[in-house]
Amino acid sequence: MRRPLVAGNWKMNTISAEALQLAREVAAGAAAAAANADLLVCPPAPWLVSVRETLGGSNVLLGAQDACYEKSGAFTGEISVAMLADAGCSHVILGHSERRHIMGETNETVCRKVKAVLEGGLVPILCVGEQLEEREAGQTETVLDDQMAGSLTGFTAEDLSSLVIAYEPVWAIGTGKTASPEQAQAVHAHLRKWLAGQYTQELADQLRILYGGSVKPDNAAELLGQPDIDGALVGGASLKADSFLAIAAAAPAAG
Ligand code: PEP
Repeated sequence: MRRPLVAGNWKMNTISAEALQLAREVAAGAAAAAANADLLVCPPAPWLVSVRETLGGSNVLLGAQDACYEKSGAFTGEISVAMLADAGCSHVILGHSERRHIMGETNETVCRKVKAVLEGGLVPILCVGEQLEEREAGQTETVLDDQMAGSLTGFTAEDLSSLVIAYEPVWAIGTGKTASPEQAQAVHAHLRKWLAGQYTQELADQLRILYGGSVKPDNAAELLGQPDIDGALVGGASLKADSFLAIAAAAPAAG
């Protein structure tokens, strides 16, 4: 069965003392809160190594918020997958809507990053999501299918066996507006069907599809209780250990 994953995307927040304090608090509460879920924190890149040290022997995983698709060389400002692995990361968020819509990342760029992360032995968390006007125009599924196909070109089912998908409706990120559990479930079921159609039913049944978009302790249980929602990608609420841990604690036992 799919064990839920609750991932915190700290985005471009925290200075080092704040990051370490947050990591300490998450690590301290992880065992009690996350009986039913894997826990992952994705701090800003400069704090990865010190957060890893702070997480110590806790069961909290470490992830990055982005990676370069090139292996090494003259790419000023970029961070390679090998560097992230060396820093202790197991996961990398890719194609987050802020990277797609603010930094101009295309499906093609995201696809190259997925390839680099898989080749580097880390787990990509591929984000997809529609904008409000696309949802209102009835284009949600077309937009998502396009993002999935474009971000996952050229892979076999075997290549993608570790992939995590995060469905994050752009209109729900950082806005306080959450997709209703029914809206989110419908999209997750659609994404799983898409995976079965493009790859195999086995892969579709196995991959974790997270929901992201204003997940909070008070809406987490209903969202995470949906049959095709396998955890959460949490932005704002991951910046406070108690709310992040409360979301993790809302994950139902895989059954
Ligand atoms: C995110 O950044 O992935 C996110 C879902 O943010 P928030 O929880 O703040 O909406």
